[in-house]
Amino acid sequence: MIEQFERLPGIGPRTAQRLSLYLLRQPQEQLEAFAAALLTAKRCVGQCEQCFHLATAPLCDICSDQRRRHNQICVVAESRDLLALERSGEFRGVYHVLGGVISPMDGVTPDML
Ligand SMILES: [Zn+2]
Repeated sequence: MIEQFERLPGIGPRTAQRLSLYLLRQPQEQLEAFAAALLTAKRCVGQCEQCFHLATAPLCDICSDQRRRHNQICVVAESRDLLALERSGEFRGVYHVLGGVISPMDGVTPDML
């Protein structure tokens, strides 16, 4: 379990150990719910057909929201950028998630996004 946590971004050996020990102290039902949530998310979450954000349906919640301004499109690199903007509550348009950034130095060209 510790090795699996260490594979996650931003999780070092000490945090992996702390999380593992914490989970081992939790009731069996809670661990089963946690494991089921991970598997369900992996199985059910895909990409929005329109903006490429995370979605559990063909269109994400933002693209399917008719109250959003669909003539204003904010282009972001990753879904996490979209989520940060959504937390601000300031932008009422829709998004286009590139899935990365163009970086000729790293060999990432526009056709790869
Ligand atoms: Zn969308």
